[in-house]
Amino acid sequence: MRRITKEALKAIMNEAYTNCREDNSGKNADYIPYLAKVDSNLFGIAICLPDGEMMSVGDCDYIFGIESVSKVMTAILIIKKYGAETVMNMIGADATGLPFNSIMAILLENDHPSTPLVNAGAISAVSMVTPVGDSKSKWENILANINDLCGSELTLIDELYKSESISNFNNRAIAWLLKNYERIYDNPELSLDLYTRQCSLGVTAKQLAVCAATIANNGLNPLTKKQVYNNGISAKIISMIAAVGFYENTGDWIFSSGIPAKSGVGGGIMGVLPGALGIAAFAPPLDGAGNSVKAQKALKYIMQRLGVHIFGSERLIIEN
Ligand code: GLU
Repeated sequence: MRRITKEALKAIMNEAYTNCREDNSGKNADYIPYLAKVDSNLFGIAICLPDGEMMSVGDCDYIFGIESVSKVMTAILIIKKYGAETVMNMIGADATGLPFNSIMAILLENDHPSTPLVNAGAISAVSMVTPVGDSKSKWENILANINDLCGSELTLIDELYKSESISNFNNRAIAWLLKNYERIYDNPELSLDLYTRQCSLGVTAKQLAVCAATIANNGLNPLTKKQVYNNGISAKIISMIAAVGFYENTGDWIFSSGIPAKSGVGGGIMGVLPGALGIAAFAPPLDGAGNSVKAQKALKYIMQRLGVHIFGSERLIIEN
C-alpha cells in the first residue's frame, strides 16, 4: 500500500505542471482546421478524487474539443445497453496496433472485431446507440450519458463540428467500409454524423477528470453522486482503455506511465487509476501518433512521483 496525503498529491500535480509547461514540442492537429487555430500554450491538469474533491492547475476551465476521449463514454453507453459480451462480439475489445483512423485495420480484421476506442469501432458503437434510425433521440442519449459521466453539461463547439464535417473524408470511407463488412448497425451517414458531433463536444479538463473519477469509482459519479452504471462495467472499459487508449503507442504508454488513459486529438488525455483517482490533462500540441505531448509528460511525471503502476502490487491510498 502506498499512502499519500491530499496535500502531497496536490504538490506533485503542481510540480508536474511547472516541470512540463516549458516543453514546446509537438504540434496542434491540423487535419481538422479548427484544431490548428487553438492556442498552443494552453495547459492544465485536473485530478478528481472518489470523494469528489477536485484539484487543478492551469487552464482547466478552457473548453476544448473532446475528440476521441468521447469514444470511452459511448463505449460505456452501449456496454450498458447490450452487455459487454455482445459489444465484444459486435465490435470487439482488441488493440489494432495501428493509427486511430486506420483503414488498413478494417481490411486486416474484416472477419474479426476491433474496439470502440478507434474510429472504426467508435462509428460502429454510435450506430448501436438506440433508437436505431432516429438521429435526434440517439444524440440525446449520447449526450445525456456523457453529461452524466462528466457531472455537468457539455456543449457542442459548432465551429469544430462544421470544420470536422467538411473534412472527414477518411471517416466517411471507414463508415462505408464497415457497411461492406456488415459491422455497422445503422445508416452509415447518420452514424458518421453523430460520431463527428460527439467528437466536436466542448469539454474542460475538470469535466474529464470527473468522468475519469466516475470510472475509477465503479460508475458512481463523485460529484453528483449519481450511479451512472454498475455491473462491473468499469473493469471492462478500463481494459479497453489499457489496450488501445494511445492507439499504436499504447504498449509503450502503459509500460512507461502505469496508468490506463485515453487521448484525443483536441489535446486532452483522461487517465483512470481504479479506486484511487481520475486525472485529466490538456495541451493542444501532439506527437506523431496524435497524443498530447505535455499531457502525456504530466501524467507520467505524476505517476512516477506517486510510485504506483496499474499492474503493480502497490495500491494508492489518498488520505486527508
Ligand atoms: N474526430 C477525430 C477523428 O475522427 C478524433 C480522432 C482522435 O481524437 O484521435 O479523426
